[in-house]
Amino acid sequence: MNGLVSFFFQFRIKESSVVVFVDRQLTEKIVLRVVDDARRRGDHPMSDEYHDATVNFYDLPKRDRASAFDTLHRDMFDRFGFPSLVKELLDDFPILREQVGSVLIGSASSGKDESVDLDTGVNHTDRKRRIGMRLQPERFIDLIRLRQRLRVEWLQLQDTIDPTFQYDTSQRWDDLPPMEQNILRDRYGALWNIAVEGRLARQFGENERARMNLLDQFNRLYRKHPDNVRDVVFQRLWDEGVTPHPSLVALTENRRAFGEFYSGRSVESLSDEREQDISEEIVPNVGDPCPLCRFPTYRWVIRAATLNGEGAKTVGVGEIFERIQAEHPNWKPEYGVCERCYERYELLSTVPPQSERAQQCR
Ligand SMILES: [Zn+2]
Repeated sequence: MNGLVSFFFQFRIKESSVVVFVDRQLTEKIVLRVVDDARRRGDHPMSDEYHDATVNFYDLPKRDRASAFDTLHRDMFDRFGFPSLVKELLDDFPILREQVGSVLIGSASSGKDESVDLDTGVNHTDRKRRIGMRLQPERFIDLIRLRQRLRVEWLQLQDTIDPTFQYDTSQRWDDLPPMEQNILRDRYGALWNIAVEGRLARQFGENERARMNLLDQFNRLYRKHPDNVRDVVFQRLWDEGVTPHPSLVALTENRRAFGEFYSGRSVESLSDEREQDISEEIVPNVGDPCPLCRFPTYRWVIRAATLNGEGAKTVGVGEIFERIQAEHPNWKPEYGVCERCYERYELLSTVPPQSERAQQCR
């Protein structure tokens, strides 16, 4: 933990033993942004305060100057209420509050780079876990939205250590082709998010925008199920409280489990049964990589004619799909290919294979 001290500021959380470590550079970036934001809004007292405090720093020797800035940034960061936000979150999630000893906040350079994780092991001195978060500095400008977002992430972290959720880290889809793994992970993530947002809505009030986004995503991922069935399943997940991990897995990969859940029955018993073929559920989207050449694809050639989503989709010929499959045994016609790859096989298939040609010549 000592190595952290030079790169991170420490904040003690009131009425608890939890320590929050925040990256020094991130703290500075956030303070400067908040001050700048205040100035733009015409909130002069805040920018004046910063200016008044720092105006004499430049007369100080270099080393003292750095530490004066550090102290100011640390104090302002504390006053803006970021460490208090961690306290509120810990109060909201009692299982985390009991098991977490520290929270480490680092900087993310983009949305993709952001993460919120719970260490799997415990610290050997206090037997507590650590939450690690990487966030973009601009997230801290709007504390209300940041809190909303972190509640979702933290409730999922809490689920992973809550015995009633029965979380299991084994990767049960690793044997599947990547496109099928993606669709199952997207579905699992969507179901878990619905269950989590439903619980948060009851605890903190409805977030209508989050609900609509989740409903859209859910309808897309389960579009083969009838509307009325989907509506009931969505609502039950939303209302149910903790839907355990094995049930979410069953709903992710098993059509029958979906029907059972719709009828109000428990689906845990079905979790060992994996639906054999989910490849027909795959919808290649505009901009997704072609499974053969990996280039982002804007014009897909697919097998089924029923997909009328946005972007160009052409229906391919079965014989050419067979030709592709002969060369790529893990590929399935349902995955689709880009137009260029399709054309390549179209050309190939006009030339008879070597053995047939040899026979024709005789
Ligand atoms: Zn391609």
